[in-house]
Amino acid sequence: MKILYQGTAAAEGIPALFCECEACRHARAVGGHEIRMRSGALVDGVLKLDFGPDSYRQELDAHLDYSHLKSVLITHSHEDHLSAHELALRREVYAYVYGEDNVMTVYGNARTGDLLAKYLNPLLEYRQVFPFETFETAEGYRVTPLDAVHCVWDQGGMYPLTYKGKKYFRSEQALFYLIEKDDKRLLYGHDTSEFTSEDMEFLAGKHLDLVSLDCTNGALVNKWVGHMGCENDLNMRRALTENGAADGRTVFVANHFSHNGVRPEAEMQQLLPGFIIAYDGLEIEF
Ligand SMILES: [Zn+2]
Ligand SMILES: [Zn+2]
Repeated sequence: MKILYQGTAAAEGIPALFCECEACRHARAVGGHEIRMRSGALVDGVLKLDFGPDSYRQELDAHLDYSHLKSVLITHSHEDHLSAHELALRREVYAYVYGEDNVMTVYGNARTGDLLAKYLNPLLEYRQVFPFETFETAEGYRVTPLDAVHCVWDQGGMYPLTYKGKKYFRSEQALFYLIEKDDKRLLYGHDTSEFTSEDMEFLAGKHLDLVSLDCTNGALVNKWVGHMGCENDLNMRRALTENGAADGRTVFVANHFSHNGVRPEAEMQQLLPGFIIAYDGLEIEF
Protein backbone atom coordinates (compact mmCIF):
# COMPACT_ATOMS: atom_id res chain seq x y z
CA MET A 1 0.00 0.00 0.00
CA LYS A 2 1.18 3.54 -0.53
CA ILE A 3 -0.08 6.94 0.49
CA LEU A 4 0.50 10.22 -1.30
CA TYR A 5 0.15 13.29 0.90
CA GLN A 6 -1.34 15.87 -1.45
CA GLY A 7 -2.08 18.62 1.05
CA THR A 8 -0.75 18.80 4.60
CA ALA A 9 -2.22 22.01 6.05
CA ALA A 10 -5.33 22.92 7.99
CA ALA A 11 -8.12 25.13 6.61
CA GLU A 12 -6.13 28.29 5.97
CA GLY A 13 -3.10 26.68 4.26
CA ILE A 14 0.53 27.56 5.00
CA PRO A 15 1.22 30.33 4.30
CA ALA A 16 -2.33 31.18 5.24
CA LEU A 17 -4.33 32.94 2.57
CA PHE A 18 -4.31 36.33 4.28
CA CYS A 19 -1.58 36.17 6.90
CA GLU A 20 1.75 37.75 7.70
CA CYS A 21 2.50 35.93 10.97
CA GLU A 22 6.02 34.64 11.55
CA ALA A 23 5.24 31.09 10.36
CA CYS A 24 3.63 32.34 7.16
CA ARG A 25 6.46 34.78 6.43
CA HIS A 26 8.92 31.90 6.97
CA ALA A 27 6.98 29.66 4.57
CA ARG A 28 6.87 32.35 1.90
CA ALA A 29 10.62 33.01 2.26
CA VAL A 30 11.78 29.39 2.34
CA GLY A 31 9.21 27.69 0.08
CA GLY A 32 9.66 23.95 -0.59
CA HIS A 33 8.32 21.69 2.17
CA GLU A 34 7.16 24.70 4.21
CA ILE A 35 4.41 25.47 1.66
CA ARG A 36 1.33 23.40 2.49
CA MET A 37 -2.00 23.15 0.70
CA ARG A 38 -5.32 22.17 2.24
CA SER A 39 -5.65 18.59 3.45
CA GLY A 40 -6.03 15.60 1.16
CA ALA A 41 -4.35 12.29 0.32
CA LEU A 42 -4.51 9.45 -2.16
CA VAL A 43 -3.99 5.73 -1.46
CA ASP A 44 -2.42 3.59 -4.20
CA GLY A 45 -3.37 6.23 -6.77
CA VAL A 46 -7.04 5.17 -6.57
CA LEU A 47 -8.62 5.79 -3.17
CA LYS A 48 -9.11 9.51 -2.49
CA LEU A 49 -9.13 10.77 1.07
CA ASP A 50 -11.04 14.04 1.43
CA PHE A 51 -11.73 16.44 -1.40
CA GLY A 52 -10.87 19.98 -0.36
CA PRO A 53 -10.41 23.22 -2.27
CA ASP A 54 -6.89 22.39 -3.49
CA SER A 55 -7.81 18.99 -4.95
CA TYR A 56 -7.71 20.24 -8.54
CA ARG A 57 -4.25 21.80 -8.16
CA GLN A 58 -3.10 18.57 -6.48
CA GLU A 59 -4.46 16.51 -9.40
CA LEU A 60 -2.39 18.58 -11.82
CA ASP A 61 0.76 18.66 -9.66
CA ALA A 62 0.94 14.86 -9.40
CA HIS A 63 -0.05 14.28 -13.07
CA LEU A 64 -3.19 12.46 -11.93
CA ASP A 65 -6.50 11.98 -13.71
CA TYR A 66 -9.44 11.83 -11.32
CA SER A 67 -11.90 10.78 -14.07
CA HIS A 68 -11.84 7.13 -13.10
CA LEU A 69 -11.66 7.50 -9.33
CA LYS A 70 -14.32 5.22 -7.88
CA SER A 71 -14.15 6.00 -4.18
CA VAL A 72 -13.70 9.12 -2.07
CA LEU A 73 -13.72 8.93 1.72
CA ILE A 74 -14.76 12.20 3.39
CA THR A 75 -13.83 12.68 7.03
CA HIS A 76 -16.21 15.57 7.72
CA SER A 77 -17.86 18.48 5.97
CA HIS A 78 -15.53 21.36 6.90
CA GLU A 79 -14.63 23.26 3.73
CA ASP A 80 -10.96 22.30 3.83
CA HIS A 81 -11.98 18.63 3.58
CA LEU A 82 -15.06 18.75 1.39
CA SER A 83 -15.59 21.11 -1.53
CA ALA A 84 -19.06 20.02 -2.61
CA HIS A 85 -19.08 22.51 -5.49
CA GLU A 86 -15.93 20.87 -6.92
CA LEU A 87 -17.50 17.40 -6.74
CA ALA A 88 -20.55 18.94 -8.40
CA LEU A 89 -18.44 19.26 -11.56
CA ARG A 90 -18.68 15.51 -11.98
CA ARG A 91 -21.79 15.63 -14.15
CA GLU A 92 -22.45 15.88 -17.84
CA VAL A 93 -21.47 19.00 -19.72
CA TYR A 94 -18.79 19.63 -17.07
CA ALA A 95 -17.43 16.08 -17.28
CA TYR A 96 -17.58 13.20 -19.73
CA VAL A 97 -16.55 9.87 -18.23
CA TYR A 98 -16.77 7.03 -20.70
CA GLY A 99 -17.35 3.36 -19.96
CA GLU A 100 -20.07 1.59 -18.03
CA ASP A 101 -18.30 1.56 -14.69
CA ASN A 102 -18.05 5.32 -14.38
CA VAL A 103 -19.72 5.99 -11.04
CA MET A 104 -17.71 7.65 -8.30
CA THR A 105 -19.00 6.99 -4.78
CA VAL A 106 -18.44 9.53 -2.04
CA TYR A 107 -18.54 7.94 1.41
CA GLY A 108 -19.16 10.17 4.40
CA ASN A 109 -21.40 11.25 7.26
CA ALA A 110 -24.95 12.63 7.07
CA ARG A 111 -23.81 16.24 6.72
CA THR A 112 -21.64 15.27 3.73
CA GLY A 113 -24.74 13.68 2.21
CA ASP A 114 -26.79 16.84 2.77
CA LEU A 115 -24.21 19.01 1.03
CA LEU A 116 -23.93 16.64 -1.94
CA ALA A 117 -27.63 15.81 -2.31
CA LYS A 118 -28.43 18.31 -5.04
CA TYR A 119 -25.38 17.32 -7.11
CA LEU A 120 -25.91 13.56 -7.26
CA ASN A 121 -26.26 12.18 -10.77
CA PRO A 122 -25.34 9.01 -12.72
CA LEU A 123 -21.63 9.82 -12.39
CA LEU A 124 -21.67 10.76 -8.69
CA GLU A 125 -23.25 8.84 -5.85
CA TYR A 126 -23.14 9.14 -2.08
CA ARG A 127 -23.22 6.53 0.62
CA GLN A 128 -23.60 7.29 4.31
CA VAL A 129 -21.21 5.46 6.59
CA PHE A 130 -21.13 5.05 10.37
CA PRO A 131 -18.49 4.53 13.07
CA PHE A 132 -17.38 0.91 13.47
CA GLU A 133 -19.44 -0.32 10.47
CA THR A 134 -16.96 -1.80 8.01
CA PHE A 135 -17.66 -1.58 4.28
CA GLU A 136 -15.81 -2.54 1.14
CA THR A 137 -15.02 -0.17 -1.74
CA ALA A 138 -15.06 -1.05 -5.44
CA GLU A 139 -11.25 -1.38 -5.37
CA GLY A 140 -11.45 -3.95 -2.58
CA TYR A 141 -10.42 -1.81 0.39
CA ARG A 142 -12.02 -2.78 3.68
CA VAL A 143 -12.78 0.52 5.35
CA THR A 144 -13.90 1.11 8.92
CA PRO A 145 -14.92 4.64 9.93
CA LEU A 146 -13.90 5.51 13.47
CA ASP A 147 -15.39 8.03 15.87
CA ALA A 148 -13.52 11.34 15.57
CA VAL A 149 -13.43 13.92 18.34
CA HIS A 150 -14.01 16.87 15.99
CA CYS A 151 -16.69 19.47 15.18
CA VAL A 152 -16.91 19.75 18.97
CA TRP A 153 -18.82 22.41 20.90
CA ASP A 154 -19.64 22.90 24.57
CA GLN A 155 -23.33 23.13 23.69
CA GLY A 156 -25.76 23.07 20.79
CA GLY A 157 -25.13 20.09 18.57
CA MET A 158 -26.97 16.94 17.61
CA TYR A 159 -24.26 14.48 18.52
CA PRO A 160 -23.47 14.24 22.24
CA LEU A 161 -20.02 13.12 23.26
CA THR A 162 -18.50 12.33 26.62
CA TYR A 163 -14.77 12.67 26.26
CA LYS A 164 -12.23 12.40 29.07
CA GLY A 165 -15.03 12.84 31.60
CA LYS A 166 -16.47 16.01 30.06
CA LYS A 167 -19.71 16.39 28.10
CA TYR A 168 -19.61 17.98 24.65
CA PHE A 169 -21.79 18.17 21.56
CA ARG A 170 -20.77 17.74 17.99
CA SER A 171 -22.29 19.54 15.02
CA GLU A 172 -21.76 16.41 12.93
CA GLN A 173 -20.41 12.87 13.27
CA ALA A 174 -16.85 13.42 12.12
CA LEU A 175 -15.01 10.27 11.07
CA PHE A 176 -11.51 9.03 10.54
CA TYR A 177 -10.65 5.86 8.70
CA LEU A 178 -8.99 2.49 9.09
CA ILE A 179 -8.17 1.20 5.58
CA GLU A 180 -7.20 -2.45 5.04
CA LYS A 181 -6.11 -4.38 1.97
CA ASP A 182 -3.73 -7.30 1.28
CA ASP A 183 -2.73 -7.62 4.96
CA LYS A 184 -1.81 -3.94 5.14
CA ARG A 185 -3.46 -1.47 7.48
CA LEU A 186 -3.46 2.30 7.22
CA LEU A 187 -4.98 4.49 9.92
CA TYR A 188 -5.78 7.97 8.62
CA GLY A 189 -6.34 9.93 11.84
CA HIS A 190 -7.51 13.38 10.71
CA ASP A 191 -9.13 15.54 12.14
CA THR A 192 -9.51 14.45 15.74
CA SER A 193 -8.28 14.86 19.30
CA GLU A 194 -6.69 11.88 21.00
CA PHE A 195 -8.86 8.87 20.21
CA THR A 196 -11.90 7.87 22.24
CA SER A 197 -11.76 4.76 24.42
CA GLU A 198 -14.16 3.03 21.93
CA ASP A 199 -11.71 3.74 19.10
CA MET A 200 -8.81 2.43 21.16
CA GLU A 201 -10.75 -0.73 22.01
CA PHE A 202 -11.58 -1.31 18.35
CA LEU A 203 -7.95 -0.85 17.31
CA ALA A 204 -6.47 -2.97 20.09
CA GLY A 205 -4.35 -5.81 18.77
CA LYS A 206 -4.76 -4.84 15.11
CA HIS A 207 -1.34 -4.38 13.63
CA LEU A 208 -1.25 -0.97 11.98
CA ASP A 209 1.41 -0.52 9.30
CA LEU A 210 1.06 3.25 8.99
CA VAL A 211 -0.57 5.68 11.40
CA SER A 212 -1.16 9.22 10.19
CA LEU A 213 -1.94 11.60 13.05
CA ASP A 214 -3.44 15.08 13.19
CA CYS A 215 -0.87 17.71 14.23
CA THR A 216 -2.85 20.93 13.80
CA ASN A 217 -1.76 22.32 17.16
CA GLY A 218 1.89 21.53 16.44
CA ALA A 219 4.11 22.86 19.20
CA LEU A 220 1.14 24.27 21.12
CA VAL A 221 -0.14 22.12 23.97
CA ASN A 222 -3.87 21.29 24.15
CA LYS A 223 -4.79 24.37 22.16
CA TRP A 224 -8.04 23.21 20.56
CA VAL A 225 -10.29 20.24 21.30
CA GLY A 226 -10.83 18.50 18.00
CA HIS A 227 -7.21 18.49 16.98
CA MET A 228 -3.87 17.19 18.21
CA GLY A 229 -0.38 18.60 18.53
CA CYS A 230 3.07 17.06 18.93
CA GLU A 231 2.52 16.10 22.54
CA ASN A 232 -0.76 14.34 21.69
CA ASP A 233 0.88 12.52 18.79
CA LEU A 234 3.55 11.17 21.14
CA ASN A 235 0.82 10.14 23.61
CA MET A 236 -1.06 8.37 20.81
CA ARG A 237 2.03 6.48 19.70
CA ARG A 238 2.52 5.29 23.27
CA ALA A 239 -1.14 4.34 23.71
CA LEU A 240 -1.40 2.51 20.38
CA THR A 241 1.77 0.60 21.19
CA GLU A 242 0.45 -0.30 24.64
CA ASN A 243 -2.81 -1.68 23.24
CA GLY A 244 -1.03 -3.74 20.61
CA ALA A 245 -2.15 -1.69 17.58
CA ALA A 246 1.37 -0.51 16.84
CA ASP A 247 4.88 -1.78 17.32
CA GLY A 248 8.42 -0.90 16.29
CA ARG A 249 7.60 -1.51 12.62
CA THR A 250 4.63 0.86 12.51
CA VAL A 251 5.34 4.03 10.53
CA PHE A 252 4.05 7.14 12.30
CA VAL A 253 3.36 10.30 10.31
CA ALA A 254 2.39 13.74 11.62
CA ASN A 255 0.16 15.66 9.22
CA HIS A 256 -2.41 18.51 8.93
CA PHE A 257 -0.53 21.53 10.26
CA SER A 258 -1.73 25.03 11.06
CA HIS A 259 0.31 28.23 10.97
CA ASN A 260 -0.54 28.69 14.67
CA GLY A 261 1.44 25.71 15.88
CA VAL A 262 3.74 24.66 13.05
CA ARG A 263 7.48 25.20 13.32
CA PRO A 264 10.13 24.85 10.59
CA GLU A 265 10.46 21.25 9.41
CA ALA A 266 13.70 20.50 11.29
CA GLU A 267 12.17 21.79 14.54
CA MET A 268 9.01 19.69 14.00
CA GLN A 269 11.28 16.68 13.54
CA GLN A 270 12.95 17.38 16.91
CA LEU A 271 9.56 17.66 18.61
CA LEU A 272 8.44 14.36 17.07
CA PRO A 273 11.37 11.94 17.13
CA GLY A 274 10.73 8.86 15.00
CA PHE A 275 7.80 10.45 13.17
CA ILE A 276 7.80 11.33 9.49
CA ILE A 277 6.79 14.98 9.14
CA ALA A 278 4.39 15.07 6.19
CA TYR A 279 4.84 17.58 3.39
CA ASP A 280 2.93 18.15 0.18
CA GLY A 281 3.96 15.51 -2.35
CA LEU A 282 5.34 13.04 0.21
CA GLU A 283 4.72 9.44 -0.83
CA ILE A 284 5.25 6.52 1.56
CA GLU A 285 5.09 2.88 0.54
CA PHE A 286 4.57 0.42 3.37
ZN1 LIG B 1 -9.04 20.01 8.76
ZN1 LIG C 1 0.09 32.94 9.49
